[in-house]
Amino acid sequence: APAGTTAGPRMLEVAGLSAWYGEARVLTDVSIDVAPGEVVTLVGRNGAGKTTLLRSVMGLHRQTEGTITLDGSDLAKRSADARARAGIGWVPDDRGIYSSLTVAENLLLPPVVHPDAWSLEKVYEFFPVLHERRDFPGTKLSGGEQQMLAMARVLRMGSRLLLLDEPSEGLAPVIVQRIGEIVREIKGQGVGVLLVEQNVKFASTVADRHYLLAQGKVVEHLGNEEFRAREGELLTYLGM
Ligand code: ADP
Repeated sequence: APAGTTAGPRMLEVAGLSAWYGEARVLTDVSIDVAPGEVVTLVGRNGAGKTTLLRSVMGLHRQTEGTITLDGSDLAKRSADARARAGIGWVPDDRGIYSSLTVAENLLLPPVVHPDAWSLEKVYEFFPVLHERRDFPGTKLSGGEQQMLAMARVLRMGSRLLLLDEPSEGLAPVIVQRIGEIVREIKGQGVGVLLVEQNVKFASTVADRHYLLAQGKVVEHLGNEEFRAREGELLTYLGM
């Protein structure tokens, strides 16, 4: 096991997962895990299968083989909404907020699906900028603020495993840094984070462990220290 591996219960365990679109196999025998309070990335070039893996965990992609468990309980028969109720929160790459609603309205709408749901007060304390912007419509938010709102929405639902699809995409470096701080603060709350990233600098500032994906297979699994030390070599290897 890599140096960054933490002991303790595995909140999410994906074992021997393969996935298809019709006849085309896009994931092969993928095994990954995430513990509570841990940030884990999936790094790989376009088409490696990262989003399909997140979608399979959420239950949005169903043409799969292998097992996915949350706290030891098999998710196979559970639909996406049942997985949301069990505490898995999806933050899509387009962030998925209601652009015509205000920040406050976006935060009031998500149904509380899990007892760990964050109160509006907790969200505002954690994301002061969302409190400042609470009466702004989604259209008036910067990309970074939209990303924070998207993460806040799933925390409002009570998600304790966040699936983040390229949270740094399209953001200025200083904002990416702020998002990184927030991801680490969320981790400090005991939330697990599984993160798809192409921004390797960002991945190495937020994550405890990394799985490198190439053509649907995990080709490396390493702790963050080793990842940083071998970054150049690994990126060349992945063709990134
Ligand atoms: P990544 O997130 O790493 O860019 P994806 O999971 O999006 O990779 O895609 C993995 C492979 O699956 C790619 O070859 C992609 O073309 C294919 N793929 C993704 N979505 C679909 C789809 N809806 N139908 C058919 N093939 C798809």
